[in-house]
Amino acid sequence: MSATFLGMPGNFPKNAEKAVQNSQLRFNLRKATHTIRGKRASVVGELPDWQELRAAGKAIKDHTLRNLDRYLVQMEEAVTRAGGTVHWARDAAEANRIVADLVKATGETEVVKVKSMATQEINLNDALAAEGITAYETDLAELIVQLGDDFPSHILVPAIHRNRSEIREIFLEKMPKVPDNLTDDPPALAEAARLHLRERFLKSKVAISGANFMVAETGTLVVLESEGNGRMCLTLPRTLISVVGIEKLLPSWRDLEVFLQLLPRSSTGERMNPYTSMWTGAVEGQDFHLVLLDNGRTDVLADEVGRQALRCIRCSACLNVCPVYERAGGHAYGSVYPGPIGAILTPQLRGMGSDLDASLPYASSLCGACYEVCPVAIDIPEVLVDLRAKAPHAAAERAGMKVAGWIFNDHTRLAKAQRVATRLRKLVPKRLPGPLSAWTDTRDIPDIPEESFRDWWERNERA
Ligand code: SF4
Repeated sequence: MSATFLGMPGNFPKNAEKAVQNSQLRFNLRKATHTIRGKRASVVGELPDWQELRAAGKAIKDHTLRNLDRYLVQMEEAVTRAGGTVHWARDAAEANRIVADLVKATGETEVVKVKSMATQEINLNDALAAEGITAYETDLAELIVQLGDDFPSHILVPAIHRNRSEIREIFLEKMPKVPDNLTDDPPALAEAARLHLRERFLKSKVAISGANFMVAETGTLVVLESEGNGRMCLTLPRTLISVVGIEKLLPSWRDLEVFLQLLPRSSTGERMNPYTSMWTGAVEGQDFHLVLLDNGRTDVLADEVGRQALRCIRCSACLNVCPVYERAGGHAYGSVYPGPIGAILTPQLRGMGSDLDASLPYASSLCGACYEVCPVAIDIPEVLVDLRAKAPHAAAERAGMKVAGWIFNDHTRLAKAQRVATRLRKLVPKRLPGPLSAWTDTRDIPDIPEESFRDWWERNERA
């Protein structure tokens, strides 16, 4: 059963400290992220109108989010008209209960799953296991994570932290019927996974999926993938249950066209992804259920700065360029959403009540590379700074910031404070005492000049 991050202890700096000591992990991450980042840059560079496409993606998402109530109802009506059933889930518990009840109603105890971040977010596999239902991941990387009883560490390549010899070991240990002479050649590993999964596809009567997009005008769901496993999963079983976050909606097919260009180029660095599956309601011989998941998204939508995170199309381009992610890896974020998008989405979805979630807005150097590559122009640094202000702070830090704010808000007060500081400059220690020492553990206090710029300017202007 694949593990989930819920209730994970620690905080980002502690988790990252451990991760950066793993040189194999750093090597795997660097190699993988630099390869994908290079491919992305080259296919994005082919489009002279990339910035216009990006602006269109942003505008479509903003329009949809502003009118989400209307488009969600339109989606429900369209799916129902096409023979599907729509369920509304306020939170993870409700979504898990709906899915478990639907599976139980079929009499089955096994389901196949095609990669879905929403179901990882709500910890569906464990919830199903508690009801005696076993969920089998069918996306190759998710399968590796599940068999290795591991955590996903990347949005697009959840097993990015594993190299091929580690994958071979996992297959030999956990995959029944795998030959002892299995090599770590990628085609051999892929073939072993294919044979393993084929059996599951043919046996399973229930499938659970996510979706990259939902088109409100016709009630159509869209999944983009590379392996074809998704299509098997979506078409073979008699019951299909799709769990989709409410922000995945697009008004029309015309809007979808923009995202079918933005997503493959930003995620896998391809002009077009190999498999695009679309379905509308129930087809003959198959029941279809759509579970629309909120789980904190409405609260995010209410936040003027933070709501832009809901534009995210989970391409993972921001992870692949992030210097912090490249060194710390995905597990340090303690969430199914790692990297820059995780640093702004997780604290908004889960709140900042835990040490881990309150530390995430600081998991960034604010270099802005994430914003530059984001295909829907999410200003991640802006949201990070906003969340830092909202994060819990120690009473001493809050008091210090209040005093600093009072001084900086008035030029006379600031001039006086600068003069006092220059007079006392010799007394300023190189390391701060007590709880303030955390500041000087990793940085030097800058030398205070003999004269402030303000005084220097005044003196020279007068001269
Ligand atoms: S924030 Fe932007 S770059 Fe990062 S995963 Fe989401 S859409 Fe992609």
